[in-house]
Amino acid sequence: MKKLKSILETIHKKNPGENEFIQAVSEVFETISPLLNDDDAWLDQRIPERMAEPERVISFKVTWVNDQNQVQVNRGFRVQMNSALGPYKGGLRFHPSTNLSILKFLAFEQTFKNSLTGLPLGAGKGGADFDPKGKSENEVMRFCQAWMQEAYKYLGHFIDIPAGDIGVGEREIGYLFGAYKKITNRFEGVLTGKGLDYGGSFLRPEATGYGLVHFAQNMLESINEALEDKVCLVSGAGNVSQFAIEKLLEEGAKVVAFSDSSGFIHDKEGLDEEKLAFLKNLKNIKREGIEGYAKKYKSAKFHKGSNKSIWEIDADCAFPCATQNEVDEKHIEAMIKNKLILLAEGANMPLTQKAIDAIQASKILYGPGKAANAGGVAISGLEMTQNRMGRQWSKLEMEQELRIMMRNIHTHCIDSIRQYDLKEGDYLTGANIYGFKKVGKAMIAQGVV
Ligand code: GLU
Repeated sequence: MKKLKSILETIHKKNPGENEFIQAVSEVFETISPLLNDDDAWLDQRIPERMAEPERVISFKVTWVNDQNQVQVNRGFRVQMNSALGPYKGGLRFHPSTNLSILKFLAFEQTFKNSLTGLPLGAGKGGADFDPKGKSENEVMRFCQAWMQEAYKYLGHFIDIPAGDIGVGEREIGYLFGAYKKITNRFEGVLTGKGLDYGGSFLRPEATGYGLVHFAQNMLESINEALEDKVCLVSGAGNVSQFAIEKLLEEGAKVVAFSDSSGFIHDKEGLDEEKLAFLKNLKNIKREGIEGYAKKYKSAKFHKGSNKSIWEIDADCAFPCATQNEVDEKHIEAMIKNKLILLAEGANMPLTQKAIDAIQASKILYGPGKAANAGGVAISGLEMTQNRMGRQWSKLEMEQELRIMMRNIHTHCIDSIRQYDLKEGDYLTGANIYGFKKVGKAMIAQGVV
C-alpha cells in the first residue's frame, strides 16, 4: 500500500537510528492493509502515525553511590506510549543495552499486546541502562530508590503502572515500591509483580511462561496436535524461560535445551523437576551462569558463546524467551530442515524481520509475542484489579483466569484471520489487526487529543 509506505518513510526519518523501534512499527504496519482497505477513517484520522508517536517520553538522570563510594551516573526512562484503552502499563528493563529505541519498540508492542488481553490497559515501557549483574543487594536497592526519586512524579495506579522485564524481578519491584510509598506516602498498586504479602497476585511470576505454553497448546489443538512428548527448545534461563519449562514438563513435553548470555545447555535426556529446581537455584539464588548445570548433570553439554546455535538442535517446538532479535533467518532455515512444528515467542520481538518473513513462508506455526507472551501483563492487569478492590484472589482462580485469557487471545487472532480472509494460521497478521483495530477505534472515539 503506497500510503503506508510513505507513512513508514516519515516515521523512519523522524526517528533516526532507532532501529528496533522502526523494526517493530514496520512489522505491524506492513500487515494491516486488509484492515485499512476496509475503511478510509483509519488513514483520514491518521491512526498509524498517531500510534507510532509516544504520548510522552521521559528521560532522566539517575545518580547513586556504589559500595566503593564512587558516584555512578545512569540514564532512566519511561515511555508513555498509548492511553486509549487504560492507564499506561508495561515493564521496566534494567540492562546496559537499554536505550530509547529499545524502549519505544517495547512500548509499541505493548500497545497491541495489552489490547489483546481484553483488559483496560494502555501501554508503556521504561527502565535504565543499569546492569544489575554483579551489583550488591545494597547497590541494587540504592539504584531502585534513585530511579524512583525522579519517576514517581509520572506514575500512579490510575496513571502509569510499571512492572518487571529483563533485569527487574520481585526484588527490584520491592525496592521500587518501597521508595514510591516513602516519597508519596501512598500505599497503592503503582507497580505489579509485587511480593504476595504486600499486594502481589498469585501466579504473576509464573504468568508469562505458563501463558506462553497455554497459547502454544491452543495453537497445537487447532491442528489436532498436543504438547505431550514434543521435544522443546527454550532459550533464556530467566523468569519467562523457567516457568515455560515448568509448564512444558507438566504437560508431558521434553525440554532439551535452554540458554543464557554465556551460551546454551543441550541436555539430551531432557529436564525434570529436580533439574529445573537446580537451574532455578543457580539463576535466582546464586545468580550464576548456566555452565554449573552441565557440571552437575552428565547428560548435559554446555556450549559456550553462541557459535553453535541452540536453534540447530532437532526439535518439535521452539520457544525463544531470551531477548529481541535472537533468532535470524538462518536459524529458521535450520528449524525448517528439522521439521519443527511450532515456534511461540516468550520474548518480545525475538525474530528479526527476515526470520519472520522466512517463518511466515514456511509450514511452521508461528505464535507472535504480542499474543503468545501476553499472559504476564494479563495477570498484572488482574493484580491491579485486586489492589483496587483490596483483595487477593486464590492461585486456583488465577490459573483459571490465565487459561481463559490465553484462550480468548487465541480466539481473537483466529477471528481476525477469518474476518479478513487471511492465510490459515497467520497469527501475526491476526494479532496485529485485532490490536490495531481495538486501540484505533478507541482513539477515534476519544477525538483528536
Ligand atoms: N514486561 C512484561 C511484558 O513484556 C510484563 C509487563 C507488565 O506486567 O506490565 O509484557
